[in-house]
Amino acid sequence: TAPTPNRRPLKKSDKLQNVCYDIRGPLLKTAMQMEAQGQRILKLNVGNPAPFNLDAPHEILQDVALNLHNATGYSDSQGIFSARKAVLQYYQSKGLLSAVDVRDVYLGNGVSELIVMTMQALMNDGDEVLIPMPDYPLWTAAANLAGGTAVHYRCNEDKNWQPDIEDIRSKINDKTRGIVVINPNNPTGALYSNEVLLEILELAREYNLVVMADEIYDRILYDDAVHTPMCTLAQDVLTLTYNGLSKSHRIAGFRAGWLMLSGNKEYASDFIEGLDMLASMRLCANVPAQHAIQTAVGGYQSMQDLTAESGRLYKQRQLAVERLNAIPGISCTMPQGAFYCFPKLDRTIYPIEDDMQFMMDLLIEEKVLMVQGTGFNWDAPDHFRVVFLPNLFDLEDAMDRLDRFFANKRKE
Ligand code: PLP
Repeated sequence: TAPTPNRRPLKKSDKLQNVCYDIRGPLLKTAMQMEAQGQRILKLNVGNPAPFNLDAPHEILQDVALNLHNATGYSDSQGIFSARKAVLQYYQSKGLLSAVDVRDVYLGNGVSELIVMTMQALMNDGDEVLIPMPDYPLWTAAANLAGGTAVHYRCNEDKNWQPDIEDIRSKINDKTRGIVVINPNNPTGALYSNEVLLEILELAREYNLVVMADEIYDRILYDDAVHTPMCTLAQDVLTLTYNGLSKSHRIAGFRAGWLMLSGNKEYASDFIEGLDMLASMRLCANVPAQHAIQTAVGGYQSMQDLTAESGRLYKQRQLAVERLNAIPGISCTMPQGAFYCFPKLDRTIYPIEDDMQFMMDLLIEEKVLMVQGTGFNWDAPDHFRVVFLPNLFDLEDAMDRLDRFFANKRKE
């Protein structure tokens, strides 16, 4: 037999040293191994509506299918005209204050790609960006991957998870380039008040920060709540608005997202040149999915039904929050948007040191998969995220298992 060459181990690059994305991390790998052995896992771990029989609206699929023959080639790097125009109209109809045109809209393979592109275009080594804590961890990962530093500002659980303005202010310095706002929020389900949004915009104005508003859950709202896009609250602050169809139209697999620039763009022409180049380098976003956008952002949308009192998501939210709050030592605020909640564990009752291990125990003992709070850059091992997309039957089952698990772990 041929001798085995003595190869040096192939290591991941140093760039990835501080990059972490636990939503699809070790817990998911273990769950997949368990599934491969024939075990059934209840998955409350990712915000992907389609596997839970939350189908895409028919008109969206129809639009994509009808346009397939037009969608076999690359498109313009920023995206097809009709979709970009429709995105502008969406924000104009909501009261966008500043002048925008189709050159201000970039279509991406989901918001994810646009987040990574923005961070690459914005950050020099050592630059800082303010990101909420807890966060949707791609923001932190993308900032770190771009050579920057994610600095986390606190959201206050006792104030329905609203951002702490004073904490934001205290963390701004001359390296701070921008501030990320996730509203409605993943993982807390919080919807921010206009007052808080205006205060953040005021800070951005004062310290010359770019506002990055991730509003992908803007149409998943409960109890008649109203969402205000940040771009409608200021015309001078450079605001990057991120949104897409993964959640609102349940087509996460299509990878349809957009980024719109508004506010003062003049001083940012060099940054915008950078974004243009990055958009060109990846050629274009998935073209069939771009054809879904025009239909999805205009006119009547069938999404409303799911969050109305009679709707599936509404009932699932009620069940999840009620059952969680009934477990001793767990408290959970009521989400006003999205399909997540982020309950708190009392550590005097559950003395957890390593919350990922705690979630691993839950997976192995009760076959329920959820993500630990530190996976969302929360700074203590005392939270976890629940995705309430599964139907009522499966959610009841998951909650029964949680009851049993937490009863076993309680310190008397
Ligand atoms: N932003 C937030 C807050 C999210 O929760 C997600 C997905 O979970 C994304 C962005 C990425 O969405 P997509 O890349 O599917 O558009």
